[in-house]
Order: sequence, then C-alpha cells, then structure tokens
Amino acid sequence: MRYRKLGETGLRVSEIGFGTIPILDGDVPVLPSYYSPGMEGAIAVMNHALELGCNLYDTAIVPEYGDAEIKLGEFARRVGRQRIIISDKARYYSGNEMYEAVTRSCENLGTCPDIYFAHQVDPGSEDQVFGRYGAVDALRELKAEGKIRLTGIASHYYDILERGARDPRVDILQGSGNILERGMLERMEREPLFRAKGFLVNKVYAAGILPAFFPLDTLIGGVLSYPVSCALIGLGTAEEVDQAVAAATAAERRQERAAFPEVLTVLEKNFAPIPCDRCQRCSCPHGTEIHTVFRQYHYYFLGKDYWALRKLDLSIRESAEVCQRCTELSCIKTCPGKLKIPELIQQIANLTRRHIRNSVI
Ligand code: SF4
Ligand code: SF4
Repeated sequence: MRYRKLGETGLRVSEIGFGTIPILDGDVPVLPSYYSPGMEGAIAVMNHALELGCNLYDTAIVPEYGDAEIKLGEFARRVGRQRIIISDKARYYSGNEMYEAVTRSCENLGTCPDIYFAHQVDPGSEDQVFGRYGAVDALRELKAEGKIRLTGIASHYYDILERGARDPRVDILQGSGNILERGMLERMEREPLFRAKGFLVNKVYAAGILPAFFPLDTLIGGVLSYPVSCALIGLGTAEEVDQAVAAATAAERRQERAAFPEVLTVLEKNFAPIPCDRCQRCSCPHGTEIHTVFRQYHYYFLGKDYWALRKLDLSIRESAEVCQRCTELSCIKTCPGKLKIPELIQQIANLTRRHIRNSVI
C-alpha cells in the first residue's frame, strides 16, 4: 500500500480508504443485500484491510450508515485507536445540529473521530453550512475544543467543494468521481486552491456498477491519477479488500489514466452513452440539474434501471417541456463539449415515458 499526504494536515493516508457502507447492518437503501455482516464479521474485514496497510476508515453517523459507526468504534478499540484515522460525517447544516451530531458520533464510536464532514452539502444547504453559526463554524469550534482533529465538507457539487477549498476553516474535502464522471476531478486538478486541502474521493466504482465494465486497476488507477489523497472504496469482504489493494498496486505500476473517449467506447458496446463527464459547468436558469439527469440516464443502462427510472420520472417531463420553450440555451453555451442538451433531455424524457409504461412501477 502506498500513502499520500492528506493536504497540509501533516497526516499520511493509505491510497485505499475503507468505505464502511458494506459492513453496516440496518434498513438502509444503499446496502446491497449480500452484505450486512455482524460485529465480528465486520471487524474481521476491517482488520484484514489494516493488515494490508489501510489506515483510513470512513463512516457516517447512525443511522445514516446503519450501525457502521458503532462497528468502526469497536474495531478502533480492539486494534488500538492510534493505528487508524477515522473519518465521519453527518447530514446536518446548522451549527447546533452539527455540534450535537458530533457529540453523538463520539458516543457511538467510543472515541472521537479524526475528521468530521458536513455531509451531502448541496446548493439548498450551502449558505447555511458556510454561514455564521452554520455547520462549518461548529466544526471549527469542535476542533478548537479537541473533539475532532480536522473539519470537512462532503458534496457532489464542484462549486461547493471549491468554496470549501477557499475557506480557511475547512481542512478536508470529500467529493465523488470515477473514470466516467471525471469532470469534477479534472477541474480540481487544474485549480491550485485544492492543493492545500486533503481530498477523499468516493463513488470510484459508481455505486458498484463500473466493475462490470472495467478492470478494478483501471477504475482505481483512474482516480488515483488525480491529485487526491485517498480513494474510498466500499469494502464488505476480505476478497474485496484484496482486489482493491491489488488493483491499486497494479495501477501504480502502469501509471495510466484511461482517456475519456476510451471509456465511452467500452460503454458503447452496451448502449449509447452521453459524452458528459459531469464537469458541472452547465447551468439551467429553469432549475434542471443537467449533469444529474445525464447520470441517471447512464445508470439506467449500467444496471441501476429501477432506481434511475424512478428518479428520472420525478421531473424529466417538466424539464423537457421547459427546454422546448427555452430561448436562452445557456446550458449549451457553457458546455465544453457543446452537447445538444435540450435534444438529449427530450430523448431521455421519451425513453422514461416508454420504459415507465413497461416497468412494474
Ligand atoms: S435548454 Fe433546457 S436545460 Fe438548457 S437552459 Fe434551457 S431549459 Fe435549461
Ligand atoms: S452537459 Fe456538458 S457542461 Fe454539463 S456536466 Fe455534462 S459535459 Fe459538463
């Protein structure tokens, strides 16, 4: 296992970070049914990763990741707290709620986490999180009190991560990216502001779907070719730990990043992918989140058809209708690939209509 600097924190983290979703037990929709190990099974998998050099474990407050936080705390107690870096998070945006969340997480873990993130910060919660008496202020206070070591922002939105990169109160960022949805990583790579912060990248396997199409060393090597500190991989079995660590080692030897057109060529064997890398430069004044629509289209064909169809069905018809009346077309002007966004949205609306009719919904 190789190690990388965690921004300017003085810490070094393993290139593979242990994502704890697969070791949770609980009624959590993100959990694949074949996981859910008990306490001892979960500790055995985490210990196996530790033996192979993993030193960063990422979790979330109960019940966001079921009981994973409790299992991670017990693991830390058994192996020795100082041997691992615990990264934790909660979806709270006001200072009071965040302060209470961290207190609860400390109780669940039986120790204090090293990094604590305001989780899933989105455009609707952003100003509260960064504003006076918001979650970032609370995290800074908790850090001053010694209850956490480092503060963090976790988001799927580039603009929010960049705001975190500009904010001296924030130490670590967590964002998503993979060889298909690489636009955020590309932008981050070019923006020097990010150099001072640690960066953990999640969704490396795109919710488990990309390993059916690409070797793991292509996936892991792809994200590690960007200036990130650590690739968080959800690990539920010793075999998955072995595969991820072997893939990181193989990728290190090859030092290659699959080009975006190559990735699309592989996917074209199955469907017609949209050449959108989710850079998030496009904006729609009428509220359509274009990159999310295109992501759901991809996920529909990559194996998450039920989930993607349900999400698309919530708003795609309205989006397509607005596009038909739109004269500004500001989205096309800001898309580097000059994608024909309104036409694509119309096609996705048609596809959703056809497939919803044929589905069991
Ligand atoms: S064409 Fe559609 S997506 Fe683009 S700006 Fe207009 S309404 Fe928004
Ligand atoms: S549609 Fe274009 S601008 Fe928007 S996320 Fe995709 S590639 Fe980027």
